[in-house]
Formats: sequence, structure tokens, C-alpha cells
Amino acid sequence: MSAVRTYRDFMSGESLRQRLRDVARSAAIAALSVPRSPTATKGWIRFPYYHHVFDDERQGFEKHLRYFKSVGEIISIDDAANMIADGTPLDGRYICITFDDGFKNWIENALPILVSEDAVAAFFVATDYIGTDLLRDREKLLAFYGDGKRLMEFLNWDDCRTMAAAGMTIGSHSRGHVHLLDLDDTAAERELAGSKQSIEDELGLPCRHFCCPFGRAGIDYDPARHPAMAAKLGYQTFLTGHRGANHAGGSNLDIRRDHFLANWGTYQLRYFLGAGA
Ligand SMILES: [Zn+2]
Repeated sequence: MSAVRTYRDFMSGESLRQRLRDVARSAAIAALSVPRSPTATKGWIRFPYYHHVFDDERQGFEKHLRYFKSVGEIISIDDAANMIADGTPLDGRYICITFDDGFKNWIENALPILVSEDAVAAFFVATDYIGTDLLRDREKLLAFYGDGKRLMEFLNWDDCRTMAAAGMTIGSHSRGHVHLLDLDDTAAERELAGSKQSIEDELGLPCRHFCCPFGRAGIDYDPARHPAMAAKLGYQTFLTGHRGANHAGGSNLDIRRDHFLANWGTYQLRYFLGAGA
């Protein structure tokens, strides 16, 4: 088995039932997205989040970037965090693109498209997976998605340095891609502090942003403990997996994001970006 390079291969492990559910869901969204428009409102920052840009999704991702630019302004996570903290009401629509986990397709596919579109994004890496080897670490990589059917290739630290040099932000997604809620405070702090230290040592840059693996409050992390723990350890932000808009004066320790697939049509983007803005 070779490493997954296309969305088609990535999905071949999914059951037929799951695929039919996806098709039905996408048809429903197409119908619902008609009356929704992200440009009906302003004064928000949305954080789209992706995991992959597979080889067969390059065009889709390029279309997403152009769509984002037609709706608002793409900004860095440092700018987004400063705007949220500053509290001055926003007069426009801002989009902060994020990626989770640390896959090789980021540097192969996402980075060149971002650079050619003059856009930036924040990339959150689970540091224990950075520099893993397809042969040596095969079992660990096959286990990433739990089903053992998909061999995922990750970045190495040189890749991360290349991406940072191109203007991208590298943030932490913990060391081992853990469920923080399963850990005691000492172990959770090791995940947050250890990943921050590795990124700072390897890149020679401050690591100010933490994106919580899985990202659901009360299921994957404790909203009463872990965002405060991240702040205490020197992080400026704590990103979640909850959908929605962010506003100036809101909390940088409870950032909402919208999960996208790079192959989605713009009607799906319009549906999610137009929701509850
Ligand atoms: Zn993740």
C-alpha cells in the first residue's frame, strides 16, 4: 500500500452507506444555500478549516481561495487574533484559513496554490507525526485514522520551515493528536507545552496558536480547564471545531471554525459562511 494521494483513494475506505449519506447531505445543502449569502452581513471573522488538499482537489482549493477573496479579505491568524482581542467593531468580512494535522499534501498542493493566490493560512501540526517515515513508522501512520486502511504521509521539519518562510503560520495541534479530556492536567500540559517547544526549537519562531485535536467542548476538551491552560503556557489562541462566526471583542480562547473539504463546490461554502453570521 502506498500513501494516499487523492481524495478518491482517501474515500475508498469509506462504506457505501457513508458515501450515500454524503451525497444526500450535499444535495440538501445545495438546496438550502440558495437564500443564504455571506455578503448579507459583515463584521465577522470566519475560520475555514481543512485537513487535506489532495492531488485531485487542487482546482477545488484554488476556487475556494478565489471565492473567499470575493466575499472578504484573507488574513493571517496573528491579525485575526489581534482584531478579536482589540475589540474595535469590524467593518468587513475576514477569512482566516486553517489546516489541521500536518499532512504532506500541504506542502505539495496547498502551499503552491496559497502562494500563487497571494494568500496565507495557519497550519496546525501534531508534532509527534512530523518527520515520520512511511516505511519506518508505517504502523503508526496507518493507525492515524483508526481503521488501518489509509497510509498517511506527514511533513518533516524542513517542510515546516519552508512553509513558514513562505509566510504561513505553524501552530500546535498537540504532540500526539490526543483527546485532552482523557489526560490528567500534567499529561495535558506536556502535550501543549512540548509541542510548542518543538515548533519553536525547530522553526526559531514563537508558536502562539493552539488548535485542539477533535475540538468539541465537553467531548474532546474541557472548556473550563484547557483553554486557560493553553493561555498559561503562552498561547494567544485556542481553536475549536465548533462552527460559527467570530467577532471583535470575542474570546481568542474559543475560536469557532467551519470544516470544509477542498473538493466542495462554492454552494457549500456559501451555505456554511452564510450561516448565523
Ligand atoms: Zn486533528
